[in-house]
Amino acid sequence: MVPGRVGMYSCGPTVYNYAHIGNLRSYIFADVLKKTLEYFGYTVTHVMNVTDVGHLTGDEDDGSDKMEQQASKTGRDVKEIASYYENAFFEDLDRLNIKPPTIRCRATEHIDDMQAMVKTLIDKGFAYETDQAVYFDITKYPDYTELSGQSLKEKVVGARDEVVEDPEKRNPADFSVWFKCKGRFANHIMRWQSPWGEGFPGWHIECSAMSIKYLGETFDIHTGGEDHIWVHHPNEIAQSRCCTGKKFVNYWMHGAFLVVGKSGEDKMSKSEGNFLRLQTLIDAGFEPVHYRYFTYQAHYRNMLRFTDESLTAAKNAYERIRAFIMRASQMKGEKPEWTEEYVRRFEEAISDDLNMPLAVGVMNEMINKAAETGEYNILDVLFRFDKVLSLGFEDIAASMEQDTGAIDELISLRAEARKNRDWAKADEIRKKLGEMGVILEDTKDGTIWHRE
Ligand code: AMP
Ligand code: ZN
Repeated sequence: MVPGRVGMYSCGPTVYNYAHIGNLRSYIFADVLKKTLEYFGYTVTHVMNVTDVGHLTGDEDDGSDKMEQQASKTGRDVKEIASYYENAFFEDLDRLNIKPPTIRCRATEHIDDMQAMVKTLIDKGFAYETDQAVYFDITKYPDYTELSGQSLKEKVVGARDEVVEDPEKRNPADFSVWFKCKGRFANHIMRWQSPWGEGFPGWHIECSAMSIKYLGETFDIHTGGEDHIWVHHPNEIAQSRCCTGKKFVNYWMHGAFLVVGKSGEDKMSKSEGNFLRLQTLIDAGFEPVHYRYFTYQAHYRNMLRFTDESLTAAKNAYERIRAFIMRASQMKGEKPEWTEEYVRRFEEAISDDLNMPLAVGVMNEMINKAAETGEYNILDVLFRFDKVLSLGFEDIAASMEQDTGAIDELISLRAEARKNRDWAKADEIRKKLGEMGVILEDTKDGTIWHRE
């Protein structure tokens, strides 16, 4: 909307449990999007919410508040749970080299903004109050199913099977923008005063209120997982649009799911308890970058199936790149001219709706060419690609430099011993380096080393 600038909102985590690696796939996707835009010179304002109240176990107003359910299950305080899992989430992002959002906003700290929105919706006749809640009337917004492509009739009929716990609800698919602490929520712990009595906000209104507050009534990009195409995002659009009278978001981008299990159809889900955490992978000997690299194997709009074998294959591929960078950082020589073509192809791939499988393929092809031709000086280009890929390439080279002092000294002592034909000493030094995890390789340009 503004030349050179992008306003982008990502639906953040519900902090009642750890993020699983499926959730993290969605945030890697958003990070790649943001970094691709930055790569091409845009300044990105990225807003991410933290849902610490109001997300029910069912997306359609059924069930109980996920936060409070976890609190009663564990006997812990809701606030304590929220801050514990929020921290764990941002630590995971950090370990995956995901850049933190420009603005991080908690639902519980924006209740006033949400109430103001609910009030406007009631005043304009889009929302109505019952004894239990305030609902958005979806029949008042004819474009309700624009995003999902469902017909409104289908939506209304489909929702009929769901538990309708409020007899005053006009249409089964109407969704709550404000829950009252009555009936099934009589004992809800998190509650705020409002014109409609004590209560708490619905999950959908949180994202509308906070995105509009920080990015304006219309903004550029909104991201989330593909599950949000049917309920959460249509609800966000309906409320926002009816409240402001303006278009809400210009581009919706949804990340496809990570699936597990033999059939490849089991969605990983926090509430099912069948989830793998990033820490689970680390405990099994993987590094966060291996997982990040793994996610690049599928386009973000395609389902990605997780198996131990495919993660191991990604690890091996990544380790080949690491070995190359370690080797290349000790090589001298001009930057070869042919890298230009790879830069062009890489940029073409990322700008084609973030085609990461192709982008990574182009990078690996370039690495192979460098290894084949012996023209190793392509590190600058790899670092440039890594502004988007975020696989820690500069760290690999930097860690080499850190160690280099001591190792180089031992290598030159060995060279001297060899010159003096003191083979015993030369062997001893090689052994010592080996114990440090350093492998030597004698090339025509001298001795280079890499880690085991
Ligand atoms: P939640 O914390 O449950 O609100 O989910 C956080 C984000 O992860 C949302 O954008 C979801 O759409 C997304 N998500 C949930 N499950 C998966 C999955 N298996 N694969 C990819 N993304 C997911
Ligand atoms: Zn949202």
